[in-house]
Amino acid sequence: MDYNNKFINALVANDIETLREIPKADLHNHFYLGGNKEYIYRKTGKKISSLDHKLTSMDEMHKWVNENLGNIFEGKNGRLLALEASFAQAASDGITILEMGEDIWANSCFYDDNVEELINVFNSTHHMIAPNIDFRLQLGLSRHCKIEDLEKWIEPFWDYDCFYSIDLYGDELAQPIENFKGIYRKAKDKGLVLKAHVGEWGDADSVKRAVSELELDEVQHGISATKSQQVMNWLSDHDIQLNVCPTSNVILGRVESIKTHPIRKLYDNGIKVTINSDDVLVFNSPVSGEYMKLFQEKVFTASELDIIRLNGLK
Ligand SMILES: [Zn+2]
Repeated sequence: MDYNNKFINALVANDIETLREIPKADLHNHFYLGGNKEYIYRKTGKKISSLDHKLTSMDEMHKWVNENLGNIFEGKNGRLLALEASFAQAASDGITILEMGEDIWANSCFYDDNVEELINVFNSTHHMIAPNIDFRLQLGLSRHCKIEDLEKWIEPFWDYDCFYSIDLYGDELAQPIENFKGIYRKAKDKGLVLKAHVGEWGDADSVKRAVSELELDEVQHGISATKSQQVMNWLSDHDIQLNVCPTSNVILGRVESIKTHPIRKLYDNGIKVTINSDDVLVFNSPVSGEYMKLFQEKVFTASELDIIRLNGLK
């Protein structure tokens, strides 16, 4: 089927239902907060309200999450509910390639310190809730954890070949990126796609530094690269893909508005970008909605958004 025209026509017609039916990737999704509200309501009877104001920090976001989600994701069953809800969300939004995974610290808390159990939980939930999605299992590291702990926790994961990528997130300013070189070298040897969150809170140079020190293939956010022409040229020359989440950036005060979002500048400087959800439960903006907003705010034409959609599907 010719999805290109269908996608373009749906944007022009403001037809979100049709947009949802068209294949798209979500390559920046933290499953814990990526869930579908409807699904959670059906399973728990809990209605999660929508965030109606901008936040000023990650701490404020965590506070909002605690107040609005309560204990629904607590314990092993809660973790499973969060995962099910994320697959349900992706399926309902027509996501065909979904990259997400578990944080390595969670292995001991929710999977009895057994990587095989962790993998089985992800695979069985994938097959139960969203079997048609091409799911890419990701390894996640929290940047604020001690490097010795991360190196210890990740050790049992190296025995398995089913992981697709590795990502680093959490407090971007917690410790120097160089600390993660050892882990990323090993991940590269294992053939993983190398990703990290940088350039959301950090500056343009931090993006270049992370990409060159860790040999990243892709950057999660990376939007502050637009503050440096040299860094943008360098990212473009090295064909580094940025997996951007526009609404997340607006709500967390990283950018003023969708209309002025620097994704346009990245695109104009030849950088490959994709559009993703980040944390749907907080930011309330599934991938289809992100495309629609960027079109309606005239950040991109419908054809440009189709090029970006296809970037994610490659
Ligand atoms: Zn993120």
